Order: sequence, then structure tokens, then C-alpha cells
Amino acid sequence: MLQVAVVGSGPSGVYAAQSLVQQDRVPGVRVDVLDRLPCPYGLVRYGVAPDHEKIKSLQNTLRAVLEHERVRFLGSVEIGPGALPPARLLGLYHAVVYCVGAAADRRLGVPGEDLPGSYSATEFVSWYSAHPDAMTDRGARVGFIKDVESAVVIGVGNVAVDVARMLVRGATELLPTDMPDAALGVLADSRVREVSVVGRRGPSQARFTTKELRELGALPDTEVVVDPAELALDPAYGDPSGLPAASRRNVEVLRGWADRPPQGLARRIRLRFFLRPASLTAGAQGQVGAVRFERTLPDGRGGVTGSGQYEDVPAQLVLRSVGYRGVPIEGLPFDADRGTVPHAAGRVLREGAASPGEYVAGWIKRGPTGVIGTNRPCSKETVTSLLDDAPALAARQVAADPLAGLRAAGLRPVEWPGWLAIERAEAELGHTLGRGVVKIPDWEGLRAAATRTP
Ligand code: NAP
Repeated sequence: MLQVAVVGSGPSGVYAAQSLVQQDRVPGVRVDVLDRLPCPYGLVRYGVAPDHEKIKSLQNTLRAVLEHERVRFLGSVEIGPGALPPARLLGLYHAVVYCVGAAADRRLGVPGEDLPGSYSATEFVSWYSAHPDAMTDRGARVGFIKDVESAVVIGVGNVAVDVARMLVRGATELLPTDMPDAALGVLADSRVREVSVVGRRGPSQARFTTKELRELGALPDTEVVVDPAELALDPAYGDPSGLPAASRRNVEVLRGWADRPPQGLARRIRLRFFLRPASLTAGAQGQVGAVRFERTLPDGRGGVTGSGQYEDVPAQLVLRSVGYRGVPIEGLPFDADRGTVPHAAGRVLREGAASPGEYVAGWIKRGPTGVIGTNRPCSKETVTSLLDDAPALAARQVAADPLAGLRAAGLRPVEWPGWLAIERAEAELGHTLGRGVVKIPDWEGLRAAATRTP
């Protein structure tokens, strides 16, 4: 019987597990879904914004997979040097599918990027999502938005839209979420009045999806401001007929906002285009004070050229939301240019040849693109390759029980009852705070909760 390890319990990992147990080409496949954290669901738990409850409810679908009789969740299992190296993991299973996502941020590469008050959007997201690694981040220590009235978000993807929305959401809307109490307190006291979300290219090239964009226009006491003259720099804004449907819808939403008179509401989200970051400049206290942008112009080939004209946008907080990047796992090949593991239809390639028993799916396979559902066909393709290889893979002798092998390697996996204990502790924490479920934000708290008996 085939024993498979899936590394990572986010959507791509869980969809891979699901494809492996819900097929009848190779009956009886057993899957261990390993995660570095004691908690499952990856970016559904630690990336989807807390106010996106509908998307978060996808956890119920993922949960059903992890509770399948031939699937086992094993948390607190790290793969890599100093933990369990890939070669040793492969010794325990017939096959390993790496679904480890893209955990790092792209850099801007401009002067001042690391000034106090400038953070990657991921740092901010991890903080309000209670990721236990976020506790030690610079921003978490200072509460990100203390004394901030103006913020700049660099990038016009869905993460940029998420963080802009969270910056202006009030206490009433955040209270029902599972956001950790400290972050809730800080965001509820927000004095942020102006958030500029800035793209280096035109409105027709923005990466956000229309549903997410529209949501900005429905935030209480917040108006979305766009400059019609700036939008018109994009030839496709004037004539969107040649655009793909998704971009055309975005342009239509932006046009609706451009045509609207100012509403004089308490907070503003300014959507800016054709401005590329040149530098971050310091304010009086050495904190970030402004972002200097260079005006760009379309080059007619989808890119932009600099105009030599600059504009300073004042900001006491800068969130750099310019995309994620895969992180290499020592012992696995890595394409540093693409930030992915080289593969052919999900089979890991070592020096151009498929490495028996090693597979990838999700962002570490295709890069950080697409929505959650994009991972389903991506994982399916990988599992199809794995099942094609199954006769050869099954011929290799592996440990009778990989869990014993993991323990022998010095790991102390948190099993499903441990995760259920964390869930109970988070419900209790919420109850004592007079809220619904509230996430535990630190390693110590999660570890203690995982070992509590009902
Ligand atoms: P993204 O969609 O790749 O957007 C990155 C943005 O950063 C783009 O506007 C890009 O502009 C810009 N950028 C990149 N390098 C830059 C630079 N050096 N200077 C200025 N701007 C730069 O990334 P993301 O927002 O992090 O999202 C990642 C993935 O997660 C996406 O597939 C997204 O749809 C998904 N996601 C989905 C949801 C949802 O469905 N609700 C929520 C969050 C995330 P260019 O286009 O010019 O490169």
C-alpha cells in the first residue's frame, strides 16, 4: 500500500491529499499531511483576511479531507536542515509531495526600504492573522499603525486590497472576527485617515480581482478616490474593449468611482496608478515620512517607462505588497530566478531528470499566482503524475509506520486531537474575552493548548 507524505497543509497540500484518497486507480493510498505549524490550513488560516469569513469557511472543506480515514495530520513537523532533511523524509514514505507555498516577500530594491515604519504586507497580514512567527516582527512590537494617519500600500494585487481594507476597518466590523486581541485593540483605535494604494502600471494591468476591488467601495465611512486624468494615461481605460473580461470589469468599477463627486467621508482610499517607487524618505524621527514615486508612462508593450518626474506621497506607514517568493528547502533543487522548484507536471527535476518519489504542487510549483481554487487542478496534475509512477514507487521498501520514524528523528508531531485541543482553547479564549473564537498568537500558547486534554 502506497504511503505518501504531503508537506504543507494549506489548500494545495490538502487538495493533493484529497486527490490521493479520492481515486480508485491505486486503491488504499495513505497520506500524512505534515506542517511546520501545529495548526493546519496554511494561508486559509494565516493569509485570508479575518473579515473574509466566507473564504475562511473553506476550512470546513479542508477539514473533511484531514479527517478522512486514510489521511493523518501531523503538525509541528519541519522539513529542512536542522529538522528533518528531505532525503530522510523520503526514506519514510514511497513519495513526498512538497506543497510549501511561497513564504518570503519580494523586495522593492529601493533606498529606504527598511526604514522604521516600512514593512512587507506579509508582516502586517501575519500579525493580524496571529501567525506565531509574527510575534517577534518589528511591526508587531510597535503595533504597526500607532500614530499613523496616512499610509501607502505599494502594489495593486489582492493582498494590497486586503491590507488597505484592514487599515480602515473599524472596531464594530473587526470584533466578530477571530483576530488576536492585541491586533484588534490596535486596529480598533486606528487614526488612519488616508490610504494610498499605488500601482506602477495602469488600471487595466492591476492584479486585484473585481470582487475584492468593489468591496473597497462598500466600506463604512470610507470613500474611494481615483483621479480620472491619471486613469486616462492608460489607453485601455479609454477603450477597454480589447481587455480580458476580468481587467475590463476592474476598469468599469474604477470608471464608476472616477465619475462620482467627492463625498467628504472620514477616511479615504486613494487608488493611484503609473507611479513607481523610487525611494522611501525619513521623517523627523527617523521613521518613514514619505514615498518618492516616479511618474511612469505606458510603453505600448504592457510595460512602462520613467518620465523623470517625481511625486512624494506622505506616509507614516508603508506596506510593500509586491508579491511573495518561494523559499528554498535545503536538499531540494530550487530555481532562484523563479522562486520555485523545477518540475515536469509536478515531478521534481534534479539536473533535468525526474527525481523518483519527489513531487511539488501549489505556489512552490507554479509561483505565487491564482486564487485558492487554482490549487485544485494544480495539485491534481501532480497527483496524476504520482499515480502514473505508483508501480515503481511501491516497489521501494519504506517504514511500516512513518510516525515512528518521525519520532525516532526527534520530532514530536501534533496529531489531530492536538489540533482539536487548540481549536477548543481558541473558543475558550474568545469566550473569556466576550468574543467568538479568538486565535492564539504565540508558539508557547499553541504548544500548551495542543497538549491540553478535554
Ligand atoms: P500579485 O497579485 O502578484 O500583485 C503584486 C503587485 O505588486 C502587482 O501590482 C505588481 O505590479 C506589483 N509589483 C511587483 N513588483 C513591484 C515593484 N518592484 N514595484 C512596484 N510594484 C511592484 O501579488 P499579491 O497581491 O501578493 O497576491 C498573491 C496571490 O494571492 C495572487 O494570486 C492573489 O490573487 C492571491 N490572493 C487572493 C486573494 C483573494 O482572492 N481574496 C487575497 C489575497 C491574495 P506589476 O503587475 O507591474 O508587476
